[in-house]
Amino acid sequence: MKIIAAAATLMMLASLAAAAPASTLLGSLVDDEDPAIDASLDIVAASITQDGGRMTFAMQLRGPLPSLLPLPDDTQTYLWFIDTDSDPATGQPHDGLGSEFNVRAVIGQNWGGGWADVTGSVPGGGDGVVAIDGNTIRITVWLGQMGDPDTFAWRCGTFAELDGSWVPGNAETAIESASTLPFTPCARATVVTPILELCPTGPATGQLQVVLRDAAGNILPNEDHVLTYHSTSESVATVDATGLVTAIAPPTEHWQTPYIEVWADGVMTDNSAVIRVNAVDIGVTHQTYAGAHVSFYLPPVIEGVDLETLLQQYEVVEATDLAWLAGEQAMSINPYHSGTEWFVLDVASDPVTSVCGASGNPVRLGWTTGYEANNSCFIINDPNWRRPQWFVIWHELGHNFTASCNAFNMYLWTASPVHNSTYSEGLASLSAMYAWRRTLEYPTSLGPLALGDIDNTFCDTWGGFQSALADYRAGGRDYDTINPDVLDGILMELWASYGIGCWYDLFSTFLPTEAPIPVAIDTPEKQATWFVAAMSASTGQDLRDHFAAEYGFPIDASAWDEIYDVVSTRIAARDFHTSGLGDPLPAARAGDRLWPVAPNPFNPRTTFGFTLARDARVELAVYDVRGRLVRRVLDEALAAGAHPGRATWDGNDDQGHASPSGTYFLRMKTPDGFSEARKMTLLR
Ligand SMILES: [Zn+2]
Repeated sequence: MKIIAAAATLMMLASLAAAAPASTLLGSLVDDEDPAIDASLDIVAASITQDGGRMTFAMQLRGPLPSLLPLPDDTQTYLWFIDTDSDPATGQPHDGLGSEFNVRAVIGQNWGGGWADVTGSVPGGGDGVVAIDGNTIRITVWLGQMGDPDTFAWRCGTFAELDGSWVPGNAETAIESASTLPFTPCARATVVTPILELCPTGPATGQLQVVLRDAAGNILPNEDHVLTYHSTSESVATVDATGLVTAIAPPTEHWQTPYIEVWADGVMTDNSAVIRVNAVDIGVTHQTYAGAHVSFYLPPVIEGVDLETLLQQYEVVEATDLAWLAGEQAMSINPYHSGTEWFVLDVASDPVTSVCGASGNPVRLGWTTGYEANNSCFIINDPNWRRPQWFVIWHELGHNFTASCNAFNMYLWTASPVHNSTYSEGLASLSAMYAWRRTLEYPTSLGPLALGDIDNTFCDTWGGFQSALADYRAGGRDYDTINPDVLDGILMELWASYGIGCWYDLFSTFLPTEAPIPVAIDTPEKQATWFVAAMSASTGQDLRDHFAAEYGFPIDASAWDEIYDVVSTRIAARDFHTSGLGDPLPAARAGDRLWPVAPNPFNPRTTFGFTLARDARVELAVYDVRGRLVRRVLDEALAAGAHPGRATWDGNDDQGHASPSGTYFLRMKTPDGFSEARKMTLLR
């Protein structure tokens, strides 16, 4: 039974030692007293040193730390109380020293670690690194974790927790003051190699590159700052103090794929790096395709497939930037502190540990080598028609928005994994669906190929949701069997009736993100009731009976008033934005254009939008597959610009008769000879 400090902590010791500090002593304490307590709890001396932004707190004890602790729950705690404003009245009081922070090292039988607790109003706190060396215990934190004070007062003490009760060890009476040396940590750090593809037989090593920036966005020299690296799976790949990664062995389980976590001056980078270790060398080199908010990191060509051309033709970076903006608009969240969201092609030679899509930063989009088709979640790899996997890409991005929302996570804390996963997956897809509607219904700078393909993809997916919902209805609308596709089918029906404002309003019920949900969502019934209340508040109609009859939703009658009150207040606090996403339509793209039909397929009504380069008379007409005019839906002189949802078709012909299910064409014409058509499907 050995004392085991937290795995992550111990693994970082090597990198600390390697970066041998030229540190400056800021303050020290000695205590000659020899109290009748356990020698491992009696402080003999303590000190604080600084190396750049790194603060090391050391405590020398009369006796060595025990290698055995009697019970699994027992711990020993070594504490430095720090007062950054020399005011005993602020922070957490400790016998005369008002403490803004506790820097503490904790050891126990099964776990341990170090951190700075924030107890006052000064920002900071977070994990530190603990090292034990005979009679001395050290913890390293970062100046920023102490709120960046010029001077501070400190003292220290020890405690043992035995059988659940606290036993004070040695409480130092001396209070020391110290002045910090000037140091400005970097404001932002980015790992610009978000995936490495390695192989134990070579190339077995790869160098991670990290870019540091100050608050104004200027790039800083890396050598002025301290970087630390940690691999989450050292049996697959290790990392040294310089960011050099070495492949050890391919993973055999999916979860063994390592992430390298990186800290710069003690602050975690906005993203991590995935280490894909393959059994054979796949021989690809990734490149960065950067947008304003997202960057794709891909091989330009892989197994004869030209990803770069596809990325450019379909405007994947530009479109996904818009999806990022849509997520930000829907959820009022900037995941990863607005840092670049990376999407990497995770190329695996082994289908067992390859991924389809995985959320996070980077988002991983899989590619398995050795297949001619259907081997990727970045593109639909059909040799006859390759195109982006819009839904997967945007769904994983959606997870990053919803998972960053504290209130939404609380909404998922019922004891029902089925329902929690339905809402977690369903709303990640809703974020993607919201981006789809935003890019189609409001002016964006995307060209017709990207817009049309995005629309086709989501319409196909919609078809899948419709059949999932139909199966759910046929199966008796049993809410215990609801899955994400059924939920998204319901959300599509709500959109068809009420527009995307109801989606936006649903997201509003989880805002502000940090504010806890004021009603305990502790049953699936309350979770369902929140959803129904949100839709009722958004539409101004009491949808309880509708949801019970149509979708089998259970309503918690006793909680309804309270829940409705909360969601309607939150929805009323936020107006639905009707402006576009990002930049207005650039002049270069401002030619006449007929937009994709939406919804499509439809029953019985759909809407049409288009862009005019200049003022013109516009004719929109619906034809059947034999070219016969069914209905002229618009013939009007209009101003230049975007005209979203300008015309609708209700499925009737010019005589007012309902047209049968089938394929139809919408044609747009202007007097100067412009003509463009779109295919659409009426499903009755
Ligand atoms: Zn998902």
